[in-house]
Amino acid sequence: MMLKRLSLALIGLLIAGAVQAAPLKIVATSTSMGALVREVAGTRAELTVLASPDRDLHQLQAKPSMMRTLRGADLVVAIGAELEVGWLPVAIGSAANPRIQPGQPGYFEAAAQVDLLDVGGPADRALGDVHPVGNPHLDLDPVRMATVAGALAERLGQLDPTGADAYRRAAAAFAERVGQRVEQWRTRLDGAPGVVLYHRDAIYLLQRFGVPLLGTIEAVPGVPPTGRQIADLVATLKGRDGVILFAPYQSPQAPLKLAGDLGWRAERLSLEPPLDADGDGYLNHIGRWVDAIASAR
Ligand SMILES: [Zn+2]
Repeated sequence: MMLKRLSLALIGLLIAGAVQAAPLKIVATSTSMGALVREVAGTRAELTVLASPDRDLHQLQAKPSMMRTLRGADLVVAIGAELEVGWLPVAIGSAANPRIQPGQPGYFEAAAQVDLLDVGGPADRALGDVHPVGNPHLDLDPVRMATVAGALAERLGQLDPTGADAYRRAAAAFAERVGQRVEQWRTRLDGAPGVVLYHRDAIYLLQRFGVPLLGTIEAVPGVPPTGRQIADLVATLKGRDGVILFAPYQSPQAPLKLAGDLGWRAERLSLEPPLDADGDGYLNHIGRWVDAIASAR
């Protein structure tokens, strides 16, 4: 019996040694987090993204396929600030993988690496608000994403010390490209009249470039608007310039009604970059948002 245990332990050690040489198995909750993983880890990681870019990360359901993926993961990369609270903790709990439990080196949240907006505001879960600990949609801010990439590089270096230098170099190169694009976008968006959002999901991007948020179609995050709220928005914004931006999973009815009443453009834009995006794919995605914001009239 004792011998059997010893030999099992020995096999375990041999397997652990073999696993260390293999790429890190990384699970990203969103395509924005996946883009950072691709950019920073490159071929040193085997990446799985749990949610396709058109899905509503607030509303996803934990699925058996997620749990199977998480069971073998070395690292989970989440946006955090409770954006994935409805499904990720359940999926991680069911995966029974001690490496990726919150608090372990195998669990990483972008929101924990940067300062958040909407913290301690009038937000109240009793009113239906989905963001009681602060706004989690930081992934639309390229500057915060560069900070997150730096923190991710450090975490990857902790899990895979032989790659530490490569991770750091990749994150630094990404931060430099972000800096260049942000300068161009700053010029482009100078004087932009402003945006109406469906949900406060692009506020980090607007704040980064000093673009006014003229209103939100939902009055409380996560609660659909009433006809009265839309009428109030029309009354407030009539005669001004702006553009209405909403996500694929948000109902187009109120945005299109508002656009018609105001004579504005309404544009449906994904909050997340394409499934195969890397750092450049992510920056092109932000470029599409910048174009839409600049199209306000
Ligand atoms: Zn949200």
